[in-house]
Amino acid sequence: MRPSDFDTAFISHAPGYWPEDSMSRWSDFKWQLRNRVDSLTDLEARLRLTDVERAGVLLAGHKLAMSITPHFFNLMDRDDPECPIRRQVIPRIEEGWNAPEELSDPCGEDSHMPVPGLVHRYPDRVLFLVTDRCASYCRYCTRSRVVSGVGEQHLETQWEAAFRYLEKTPQIRDVLLSGGDPLLFSDERLDKILTRLRAIPHIQFIRIGSRIPIFLPQRITPELCAMLKKHHPLFISIHTNHPRELTSEVRDALGRLADAGIPLGNQSVLLRGVNDSVEIQKTLVHKLLMCRVRPYYLYQCDLINGSSHLRTPVAQGVAIIEGLRGHTTGYAIPQFVIDGPGGGGKIPINPNYIVEAGTGHLTLRNFEGEIFDYPDPSPMPRAEMVRLQQQAMPHAGC
Ligand code: SF4
Repeated sequence: MRPSDFDTAFISHAPGYWPEDSMSRWSDFKWQLRNRVDSLTDLEARLRLTDVERAGVLLAGHKLAMSITPHFFNLMDRDDPECPIRRQVIPRIEEGWNAPEELSDPCGEDSHMPVPGLVHRYPDRVLFLVTDRCASYCRYCTRSRVVSGVGEQHLETQWEAAFRYLEKTPQIRDVLLSGGDPLLFSDERLDKILTRLRAIPHIQFIRIGSRIPIFLPQRITPELCAMLKKHHPLFISIHTNHPRELTSEVRDALGRLADAGIPLGNQSVLLRGVNDSVEIQKTLVHKLLMCRVRPYYLYQCDLINGSSHLRTPVAQGVAIIEGLRGHTTGYAIPQFVIDGPGGGGKIPINPNYIVEAGTGHLTLRNFEGEIFDYPDPSPMPRAEMVRLQQQAMPHAGC
């Protein structure tokens, strides 16, 4: 799978499938939300669907809703069902089958909730699930059991109890707001949440996880950025998987966030037929750096129900990292991780560059396969230390 010119450039795809006169409202994020494609009829009015997709759309209503912003919809190929953008947001029949190893809560979040909506898995940080809605829905969503509101569970965040838990738990220094997508909230509502968190003295650091800059870059208004800027240190983790997603509108939106002093990182999910090649990943990470976004994590797709058609072998992720390390800028290389099933947390997975580890030495290989011997440091012998002391201070002592 190689990137096309369409994937490598920062280009706008508007109005694409929409009429020319929609351009007057294209930059209005509320218009984008109102015009999301969320039914089979809407979809078939624009794309030639396969039977696999048509059945998938009909099944999705009971599992994870379908909804696609016009901005993101325009990135899809009308005729190619294997289009990497289509595979991410258009349901397929395979979603209806759960492989034996799959789970509805693959990261074990529900068993680590001291208060509904607040996941306390690591000692010093929490995941605060503030909404179950997103601008568009990813078919591999780890939280599809609650996200979109049509699945088997419902998110019932207990706001006051969550804030009280944070106030009385001084070891929590880092809060990640996620969901769903927190940037769907109004500026005023988000400001209130961030102000309340900032009033807790032991919370040093706030993060927001959001795919809005990709699905709905029009939402990243100057007013939103000015409000976010009041709550530093604030980081944002975006989520993008394929270089075509980095359009000129997305690049401008990310620039506004970066200009507001917000450090930006990207989390990608490794997906079969979407981004499971070195070439696609390299184009993606290079474009991210040009948008002032540091590639942060590359996730092995979680064992979420109905996702086997999107998962790759773990070895593919390792091969991708190996194809990047040494072959491009170190800043461009994300950490490949597997979220340990059932709540094991993120486990880094790396290529092995140690060929042999002996006593006092290592045999290493570099990115070109060349072999190097590396002596492990040995402590200075006591006699040598005494000799050097006497040399430096010959008259010291009696
Ligand atoms: S944007 Fe995030 S939370 Fe929303 S559907 Fe996609 S992966 Fe799930």
